Amino acid sequence: MVAELQPDRFAVERQHMVETQLSARGIRDQRLLDAMASIPRHEFVEARYRNQAYEDHPLPIAAGQTISQPYIVALMLDLLHLEPSSKVLEIGTGSGYQTAVLTQLATHVYSVERHPELARQAADTLSRLGLTNFTVVTGDGSRGLAQYAPFDAIVVSAAASQVPPALFEQLREGGRMIIPVGPPEAQELQLVRKQGGKAVIALREGCRFVPLISGGDSV
Ligand code: SAH
Repeated sequence: MVAELQPDRFAVERQHMVETQLSARGIRDQRLLDAMASIPRHEFVEARYRNQAYEDHPLPIAAGQTISQPYIVALMLDLLHLEPSSKVLEIGTGSGYQTAVLTQLATHVYSVERHPELARQAADTLSRLGLTNFTVVTGDGSRGLAQYAPFDAIVVSAAASQVPPALFEQLREGGRMIIPVGPPEAQELQLVRKQGGKAVIALREGCRFVPLISGGDSV
């Protein structure tokens, strides 16, 4: 487990991030705060960005993608109300940072990334940190992972034009999905709950994510 890693030179900065960027903005779930205090975010960014790893903004990663701002990761995961027994689907592995946080909060994390290079690097980093309760799959996450469904929670880290139907289908009854929806200038986080087989949607904060690229899209 990550808790057994050697203390690193960023431990103080990481604790400061948790206090000033997360607790101070209303994140209260102690399991989540502990997870974010233990996962070494600097391991998920390129060496040249390491000194900014605990700052209050997103950072570039390979393939023109970004690692989300820590607060956005915390906000999204907070809204999922995860239990230690939860089985989670994540779309858009990117660096694997959020996957790592999820491994501390859930029993298993299935994560889909469309860029093979990012998927490989993320899986390498997660394994190097000694994490084991994750599966990274290369592919189009808008189709979900039917073979492992249903999921207790689904978190989408790229913006969709609408909630992909396959993802809603793969959510268990009573489950929660958090997904950014909308065009680049007008995205908002949506919390989707499955109740009686129907989607109950709560609109949350405005946000800015890279697009969810599906099927025939060429970007
Ligand atoms: N949570 C990530 C941030 C990832 S950025 C982190 O902590 O680093 C969003 C990611 O979604 C990008 O890596 C992008 O390649 C990926 N993505 C975009 N469309 C996708 C799709 N249809 N299926 C899977 N991944 C997708």
